[in-house]
Amino acid sequence: MSSHSKPLTQLPYSDEATRFLARPPRLFINGEWTPSSSGNTVAVIDPSSGKEITRIAEASEADVDRAVAAARTAFDDSRWTGLAPTARERLIHHLADLLERDADKFAELEAIDNGKPKAFAAAGDLPFAIANLRYVAGWTTKLAGETIEPGLSPEGTFHAYLRREPIGVAAQIVPWNFPLSMAIDKIAPALAAGCTIVLKPAELTSLTALRLADLIIEAGFPAGVVNIVTGRGSVAGERLVRHPDVDKVSFTGSTAVGKHINTAATETMKRVTLELGGKSPVVVLPDFDADQAAAGAAQAIFYNAGQVCVAGSRLYVHSSIFDKVVEGLASHASYWAPRPSLDPDAHMGPVVSQGQFDRVMGYIEAGTKAGASLATGGDAPSSDGGYYINPTVLVDVKPDMGVVREEIFGPVLVAQRYDDLDDVVRQANDTPYGLAAGIWTHDLGAMHRLASKIKAGTIWGNTHGAVDPLMPFGGYKQSGIGRQQGRAGVEMYTELKSVIIRL
Ligand code: NAP
Ligand code: MG
Repeated sequence: MSSHSKPLTQLPYSDEATRFLARPPRLFINGEWTPSSSGNTVAVIDPSSGKEITRIAEASEADVDRAVAAARTAFDDSRWTGLAPTARERLIHHLADLLERDADKFAELEAIDNGKPKAFAAAGDLPFAIANLRYVAGWTTKLAGETIEPGLSPEGTFHAYLRREPIGVAAQIVPWNFPLSMAIDKIAPALAAGCTIVLKPAELTSLTALRLADLIIEAGFPAGVVNIVTGRGSVAGERLVRHPDVDKVSFTGSTAVGKHINTAATETMKRVTLELGGKSPVVVLPDFDADQAAAGAAQAIFYNAGQVCVAGSRLYVHSSIFDKVVEGLASHASYWAPRPSLDPDAHMGPVVSQGQFDRVMGYIEAGTKAGASLATGGDAPSSDGGYYINPTVLVDVKPDMGVVREEIFGPVLVAQRYDDLDDVVRQANDTPYGLAAGIWTHDLGAMHRLASKIKAGTIWGNTHGAVDPLMPFGGYKQSGIGRQQGRAGVEMYTELKSVIIRL
């Protein structure tokens, strides 16, 4: 029997995962596990089965205040910045080692909580998180200022230099699509810069962040340097972005909430980094092999069930090979047929929640009502309760349709044709977003011309979705403010101080 006729039933959890899920709901504040002050909890659902599997604590405003106070004290009494940079470097490496030791357990929890295939979490999310920690660990000993010869005074009359200092307490709010790796993407550079942290995971996927707290304890970080509060964005998240003792907010999520956070943070002039949505174009030039392009375009949209801020969700193929690429997409779709997250044959899981399922199916319905046709998919396979959606490709779309303009955040691609490069540049840039773009061609001149003309924070050539801890990542236009990763990502957690001394 082929894997696609097997029933969509989640597999049993490991004993270790079962034991973890049996823990009481707790917040991680000042190095200790503590219940929420209200006793309220939020259900955790396995998207592969639709069943409640445990509950997490719902932080109240008072709980957030406790966490911020712990981070504030840990920053102000220098228990973190007061350590030698080499000692902080060693602690971050230690955390990376522990994560590597437990990587398989984290991959399983991520699969259970988010719905992504365990094998993909093990091959993607975990190695990225571990490499990210190792990369930033080195910055603890390398973030340096510089000396400057002042320009308005004769040489030797002033001594002037720049210092890079940690901003202070960082509030970090992460989404549900790459829960652990996004949490590490925020924690790691903040730690390297010397900040202390209150992290709020998404309420849909808090499990790996809580499991990470075990390792933060085991690694030996001073209490209060990293605090983790689970709960609702509208309560805990909102309190964090307004809290007067928080100096910096880093948020990844929807553009709508990002705009709200940016406005709220202005009240106390917090430093803000925003990683927001996208509607990233994938452009296939006529020289490229149609089947290879189809495989690449399928991976660009169906990886993580399309729940990726950089998902290649708008495909532009040269008219001469458009039909061939669309046929290829339909045949590659079977590789991405959704399976339960713990099934070793899974390449794509369910979407994260009933809400996300409804939203994505709503987009498909609205698209077809507006005149789009289905080249493949468009429906949900039958299952015993999970949120599975078949890989979907829409053609005959118009540039002003919602499915072309808005972030769907599901396994749904809109494919369009173009005739010349100027025209495809205009179409690619016809969006309020600017997170990423993919270009598929062996014509180097065309590759670099397009790479310079498409307005996006990351351009991929003949690949899609490659992110690297060394490469700055972030958005143009409404896809965000600031950069994560690379030296730039660490510097986003610093203030630049000018010191000018008359000699
Ligand atoms: P979201 O609301 O932007 O959630 C992201 C994070 O922000 C979560 O931790 C959320 O907490 C928190 N949050 C929500 N409201 C907040 C507030 N007022 N103040 C502070 N924090 C707040 O995203 P979503 O509702 O989960 O997903 C909706 C859509 O956003 C998706 O369909 C997709 O289009 C987009 N999205 C984009 C990305 C990305 O990587 N760019 C990631 C996820 C989603 P709760 O979990 O408790 O709500
Ligand atoms: Mg969940």
